Amino acid sequence: MRRDLDPSVTTSGAAEGAECPYCESTDTIREHPKGPSLCRSMHYCNSCEQPFEKFE
Ligand SMILES: [Zn+2]
Repeated sequence: MRRDLDPSVTTSGAAEGAECPYCESTDTIREHPKGPSLCRSMHYCNSCEQPFEKFE
């Protein structure tokens, strides 16, 4: 029923503090993935205020 824990999305460290591809900051937050693509996750960089995708 609940789909919070998708097995294709790891939460073992990589979810938090993903490195920003623009400024290489790790001050990032993870956003909920949008769309059917479960092999990628959305992150948002607090340093340069840019959203980016991280492919798992
Ligand atoms: Zn950044």
